[in-house]
Amino acid sequence: MSSALHFHYDFIPGEILDPETSAQRIALMKQVGVQTVWLDTYAYGNHLATPEQTLAAKQLLESNGFEVQALTVPVGHGGAALCGDKGDPGIPAHWQMRVNPFGQCMPYTCCVRDPAMIGESRAQAQALYGMGFTKLFFDDDLRVGPWGPSLQGCCCPACMQAFYTKYPQYAHLQAPEIFAAATPGDALWNAWSDVQCDAVLEFMQKTVPDGMTPGIMVMHNGDCRHGVDIARLKAAFPDLLVRVGELHFDDASFTQAGAKQSITQSIKAHLHALGNLQNAFSESTVYPENALSPENLVQKLGIEIQSGLRNLFLMSGFFFLAPPYWQAIAAARPELEALAQKEPLPDLCQDTTELVW
Ligand SMILES: [Zn+2]
Repeated sequence: MSSALHFHYDFIPGEILDPETSAQRIALMKQVGVQTVWLDTYAYGNHLATPEQTLAAKQLLESNGFEVQALTVPVGHGGAALCGDKGDPGIPAHWQMRVNPFGQCMPYTCCVRDPAMIGESRAQAQALYGMGFTKLFFDDDLRVGPWGPSLQGCCCPACMQAFYTKYPQYAHLQAPEIFAAATPGDALWNAWSDVQCDAVLEFMQKTVPDGMTPGIMVMHNGDCRHGVDIARLKAAFPDLLVRVGELHFDDASFTQAGAKQSITQSIKAHLHALGNLQNAFSESTVYPENALSPENLVQKLGIEIQSGLRNLFLMSGFFFLAPPYWQAIAAARPELEALAQKEPLPDLCQDTTELVW
């Protein structure tokens, strides 16, 4: 029977190269029906594998029938999310950190306009393209601010100059005045967001090699206020891939009142902005390790399918999902498949979405 679902998973190359666990991990992924593996090779200036390890993992996975593509975390991750309690290496000292309206640098995050960061991300993307990777997902901190409904953005000198150049009518306003005066949807809010969205688009234009298809992971409820304008990115990259934002990566948040509606509305907003389902991917993430139970992960997969998603993208930070997760998904696979065959797909023309924070 042909499958309506396409399972994806990501990990660093070293996770599949240990001879003691490699065969078992491949078998677990096969048991679920994972078709595409995204190798995470680079995180804000830190190389997570040598080119030799990356190629070895790619070849091993391809010889076992997987499609293999690439993933990077280009600008930072807003906290010690990358390594959990293992200690996060942070961003390189020579990069421009993101700056808040009061002139304070924000840990673990780089300005999306920083030329040094862009140059290093471009070099990594070109190296990956040279190894035969044709798709590259940028992790969800390719944005200008953290989760939340408030206005975000970088206020470093280069970003302020970009704003004043495009909107000279606001040249008399300092960053704190802009953030205090802007209200959702007004001219100042939209002007500030517009320049932030320019920065994310320019990052992609300067970084992605010709011939490579970029993807962006969009944070839960992420939109122009966070510098992410999906429609603008798609206009520049018609084949753009989007991992919709869902959050709720642990049992406590997933089981709280209103969680399902909050997940569903964010997915709908991002699908509407992208305008197609083929290039949309779920955010089926378990984080921290084991924080979302296998049962709740399966339930989340059901919500994603009901919302129209058919690319189910599993993720678990730097930890390979434990066997109970694979067993739970494999057991639920017929049920999930039936749901995907049965569910009417959403009408993406209708923008009736209100985000639930
Ligand atoms: Zn900046």
